[in-house]
Amino acid sequence: MNALSQKVINLPESATLAMANKAREIKRKGVDIINLSIGEPDFNTPEFIKKAAIDAINQDYNGYTPVDGYLELREAICHKLRRDNQLTYQPNQIVVSTGAKQCIANILMALLNPQDQVLLPCPFWVSYTAMTVLNQSNFSLIPSSIDSRYKITAQQLKSSITPKTKVVIFNSPNNPSGSVYSKEEFIEIGQVLMEHPHVYIISDEIYEHINYGVPHYSLANIPELSNRTIVVNGLSKSFAMTGWRLGYMAGPEWIAAACKKIQGQFTSGTNCIAQRAAITALMHSPTEIHYMVDAFKKRRDYALELLKTIPDFKINKPDGAFYLFPDVSSFYGSKIKGIQINHSTDLALFLLEHAQVATVAGSAFGQKKSLRLSYATSEEQLDKAIGNIARLLNA
Ligand code: PMP
Ligand code: GLU
Repeated sequence: MNALSQKVINLPESATLAMANKAREIKRKGVDIINLSIGEPDFNTPEFIKKAAIDAINQDYNGYTPVDGYLELREAICHKLRRDNQLTYQPNQIVVSTGAKQCIANILMALLNPQDQVLLPCPFWVSYTAMTVLNQSNFSLIPSSIDSRYKITAQQLKSSITPKTKVVIFNSPNNPSGSVYSKEEFIEIGQVLMEHPHVYIISDEIYEHINYGVPHYSLANIPELSNRTIVVNGLSKSFAMTGWRLGYMAGPEWIAAACKKIQGQFTSGTNCIAQRAAITALMHSPTEIHYMVDAFKKRRDYALELLKTIPDFKINKPDGAFYLFPDVSSFYGSKIKGIQINHSTDLALFLLEHAQVATVAGSAFGQKKSLRLSYATSEEQLDKAIGNIARLLNA
């Protein structure tokens, strides 16, 4: 008999983490798997941030921290939001959490009642749906395709909002598509949202700095929406600090207070050393990390060239993040090496087994036709991975 709660039984495992685990397991058995599954920079955390953490240890930062984060860190976050985003917040509008993931979990728990609806432009990051369901709420998807550069239009949003819609989550630059909404696009979307004051907006900006040209813009920059927009950001991607686990939210004070209350019962304040290091990271100019963005851009271009060798992959050129999201649906309904491929999951498993390349099925992100490949890895690995895929699929 299964004694687990129904909500956990219904909870899917994170597809990104599941594929990364699978790849690690196979690798441990001695098979040379190339991991293009997880979205994680392959750089080391910059030296100046590491030094700040070492200094914090030597200065005996070791106690519990304020639930919402050290005041100096919340002030540094306000400074960063003013400097990079022209957004004005006070420290009591900020909550620091154990990764942007926890910020989103806190916000959804703070806002959602059972049966509320969360609107998700497709493709969306895997954990949004799982967190929605855990809150006994429903999600509704707004479709896109590679032909719309995986973006939705203001008109689509307009026709998707219902009286039950409580939250919409935008993520730009986007995981998994790499698409970036322009200021003009967000202004049109913002105009629709202005007509629906019952809808709260989560703006997940974790890939803010990993942007190759379309200037970053946030729905929080639209003054009429600022009292119901919550910005989520963090250090994982921009500063190559995934394992340090530090994210933050900035929004209306009452939502910050609710997130703080929730976090106070679940995990308390974020790790003290990571917080001290984050103060240093955020007070430095983003130009200090630009060498990583330049490298990602070079790899994007390199990987795109390589993907052209697979004529049946339909590809687009992403403007940010570090993922490629080709439409691979032309393989569906066919047999390759005697194996029936009907779905993005079939193809992802097939590539894992026969090309030794780990990817993530697009269905995990609500986009059945596509496959996600992370290019946060060396050109040599990309060469090998895409070479293996091309040989297998072009044969
Ligand atoms: N949002 C998106 C779109 C992501 O891809 C991720 C994964 N890193 C997160 C949030 C969570 O990031 P963190 O590591 O800060 O929890
Ligand atoms: N966000 C990353 C990804 O999409 C890390 C894994 C996760 O937290 O889901 O691969």
